[in-house]
Amino acid sequence: MTIVTRFAPSPTGRLHVGNIRTALHNWMLAKKNGGTFLLRIDDTDAERSREDYIEAIRADLAWLGIVPDAEERQSLRLAKYQAAFDALKQAGQVYPCYESPQELELKRKIRLGRGLPPIYDRGALDLSEEERAAKEAAGSVPHWRFKLEHDEPIAWNDGVRGAQKFDPAQLSDPVIRRADGSWLYMLPSAVDDLDMGVTDVLRGEDHVSNTAVQIQMFTALIAAQYPARQMPAFAHEALLVGKEGKLSKRLGSLGCDAFRERDIEPTAIIALLARLGTSLPVEPIADRAVLLDTFDLSTFGRAPAKFDETELERINAALVHQLAFADVADRLTDGIDEAGWHAIRPNLSHVSEAAEWWRLVIGPIEQPELSEDDRAYLEEAARLLEWGDEPWRALTGALKEATGRKGKSLFLPLRQALTGMAHGPDMGELLPLIGEEQARKRLEAAARG
Ligand code: GLU
Repeated sequence: MTIVTRFAPSPTGRLHVGNIRTALHNWMLAKKNGGTFLLRIDDTDAERSREDYIEAIRADLAWLGIVPDAEERQSLRLAKYQAAFDALKQAGQVYPCYESPQELELKRKIRLGRGLPPIYDRGALDLSEEERAAKEAAGSVPHWRFKLEHDEPIAWNDGVRGAQKFDPAQLSDPVIRRADGSWLYMLPSAVDDLDMGVTDVLRGEDHVSNTAVQIQMFTALIAAQYPARQMPAFAHEALLVGKEGKLSKRLGSLGCDAFRERDIEPTAIIALLARLGTSLPVEPIADRAVLLDTFDLSTFGRAPAKFDETELERINAALVHQLAFADVADRLTDGIDEAGWHAIRPNLSHVSEAAEWWRLVIGPIEQPELSEDDRAYLEEAARLLEWGDEPWRALTGALKEATGRKGKSLFLPLRQALTGMAHGPDMGELLPLIGEEQARKRLEAAARG
């Protein structure tokens, strides 16, 4: 059986790091198994869904390289939900309810006051035909609930959490349709998962109790409408928390815009999120084939996964150090060439810092403050500078011989004179880029002080 997974965002906001992680894992689960990864836009909430969010979701996924094999949109599939609803109604598995939000709130409070779980009391099921007709004649329009079967526990083997068991009598019959005819999330999602042949539902653990309810919906829908389909497998990953271990507000707004602004490579986000919360080590792995190879739900832990921005920075820097010139050429400015990129790369935490370091080559550089002794030494350096294949090696070799200096006192004044800085890229790579004429000028300028 080919695996079909889906990422199903509601376009009521931008993707944040938690959604990105769910999208990535669904993509990985499909791709590792040669399957299909769907992007399903859950836009049944017409009031809160926005077209610009849908576009941003597509753009963010494209930037991350999480490419869907197909895109579906719930607002274009309303006829399917109506057909499923009709079938469930026919089978007596949905029922109309007439309580106002205020009435429901009151019932809830009363139950809580009696120490009962605050679930719906199924009052609407007790209404007679006449009572119902009277309500409708008086202008009351019903909303609809799915009737949970109470006879046996709901159980499944969760891909991350292991054996799960729920007592349906402890759950509210979920509202699936509002009085205005619009759909709540639960039923359309189950209909789509069946209709699209989704084999694996992988989502955050905030959906565990939805799964319990939806399992009964799947069973009812398979019986009523989709006899050729099967219940998907379910897996719920532990939520992402901030470094301090708390569900942080910041994570909820941390998304691709913030990452782009900080010049984080998409590969760094992918490398981190692919393994965060698993027993596999988080490493700067650029090759997705390697990440896919080791992807396995059985490595996912049940404890919340800690997202640490300093870890992301660390992974980013390590991946920048691996980037080939061809990967970054179109992002480099000021004429940085391949040799320049190689010289500078080990000093970067972000690609955007390349221009800063490149200034050491093209100048102007800052004039270092040096002792009289060092200035004399640099005068000697300017005199001994000879150009060849390895000018740095030649220069330092000649100076060592001529002055007896070694180590820091041999190298540091040269670096300072040639770059204006006390640290930086490898001088052996940098000096040929600076060139003979500039190098001599800088040595002489430093010697003059
Ligand atoms: N639209 C739902 C959400 O964003 C989808 C959940 C699911 O994966 O089924 O929470």
